[in-house]
Amino acid sequence: MKETTYCAVKPWFANKEEVISEVKRRILSAGLEIEEEEYVKYGKEQARKHYAAHVSKDFYPHLEEYITSDKVYGMIITGENAITKVRELVGATKNPEAGTIRHDIPTMLNIPIRVTENVVHASDSQEAAESEIAIFKDLVKAIKAEVCDKE
Ligand code: UDP
Ligand code: MG
Repeated sequence: MKETTYCAVKPWFANKEEVISEVKRRILSAGLEIEEEEYVKYGKEQARKHYAAHVSKDFYPHLEEYITSDKVYGMIITGENAITKVRELVGATKNPEAGTIRHDIPTMLNIPIRVTENVVHASDSQEAAESEIAIFKDLVKAIKAEVCDKE
């Protein structure tokens, strides 16, 4: 089934061109298409919506601090079984296996693999994808409105 999902390279990693290009290379090599891509910055409000399922967890303050610390590189991705395929490319939340983005990128950069400060986010369901894409699109719209104001 053709699906649409959302993937975002998280702060710090998103500042590295070699990380963005490697993540995109893996997505495209899996036969998926990147429909829209943009740098956006999450505020606390967007973080709380995006991570609605986690706001009451003990790790949330640390997660919110990380996700709002700098820009992320958001991507809307489409293709056959896109949700599952991107989750497979990304790897597990804890102890990601070799061959996955969450394992290979920190290894490539010679830094430890971290749970909170991980490389990427990926939607885990159609409902999550729809909600996360709506947040991303609002942020993109806000950037475009800002650019128009300056002109
Ligand atoms: N996270 C964390 N501690 C945990 C579990 C998750 O800091 O024990 C962070 C991590 O950045 C993760 C995000 O919270 O990517 C969302 O957690 P989730 O369980 O949804 O993992 P994901 O879907 O990102 O693999
Ligand atoms: Mg999740």
